[in-house]
Amino acid sequence: MQNISEIEELIKLISKLPGLGPKSAKRIVLKLINNREELIKPMAKNLAEIYKDISRCKNCGSLKSNSKGCDGCENNKNKFNKICVVENLADKWSIESSSVYQGYFHILGGTLSSLNNEKKEDLLIDSLVERVKKENVDEVILATSATVEGQTTAFYIQDSLKNTKVKISKLAQGLPVGGEIENLDDGTLISAFKNRKNF
Ligand SMILES: [Zn+2]
Repeated sequence: MQNISEIEELIKLISKLPGLGPKSAKRIVLKLINNREELIKPMAKNLAEIYKDISRCKNCGSLKSNSKGCDGCENNKNKFNKICVVENLADKWSIESSSVYQGYFHILGGTLSSLNNEKKEDLLIDSLVERVKKENVDEVILATSATVEGQTTAFYIQDSLKNTKVKISKLAQGLPVGGEIENLDDGTLISAFKNRKNF
């Protein structure tokens, strides 16, 4: 019975992962059990190493190796004059893979919920203000989501940076590439009108 309860526990844990429910968690656990040497063994070792060595950088919010330091802060030889503020690491990866931006990143690790201000310090906004001052940054690009939470966070950051005199920009909201006018929701359409540019 002991083994079974361990397996049930694993299914419960895996079903907490994004995009997975109990059904897919069961399939994953079965796959793991049937591939002990190829999957369970290296995965257990890898997870233990990640647990020990990887943590969040208190300066930029990205993940860092405790033994090798933060790639963005300590190991980066490039000097940039811009910081792009994103909500999470997946956002940073998307922007990086588009090659549209060259500069520092600041990963908030969430948004300031418009209702709950309790965990404000976790968003590392004080450290963003410090970085702007210390690294001679000319521009902070706010790349938070076009949600109420994302926009509330952007306004809060703008307010926190007001004494630094740094230029603050925000990603444009409007027509998606390939978007047809008749299919847009009202919010997107209103935003596209507000953000219209000279042509
Ligand atoms: Zn860092």
